[in-house]
Amino acid sequence: MVPVGIPRYRCDSCGNVTRFDVTTSQTTKAFHHYTVGGELEIEEATVLSHHVDEVVCRWCGHGRSVVEIEAGELEHGEPGAPSRTP
Ligand SMILES: [Zn+2]
Repeated sequence: MVPVGIPRYRCDSCGNVTRFDVTTSQTTKAFHHYTVGGELEIEEATVLSHHVDEVVCRWCGHGRSVVEIEAGELEHGEPGAPSRTP
């Protein structure tokens, strides 16, 4: 169950676009439907709020240079993008 519109990230410090530790908070509301025997079935789960708390680059160990990027921006490539750090 992945919410739509999850952004992509890029670390401007090392050029990483694939490895991030993402911390999110999510509030959900759901209908808990129990049988008489006590078996639970969760129905109608709704995401009330979804917040990205922190995005940390796995290689740098911090998120100070991590930026959100538009979907599709990666495919076009960027002139001067740091593909390798000297
Ligand atoms: Zn990095």
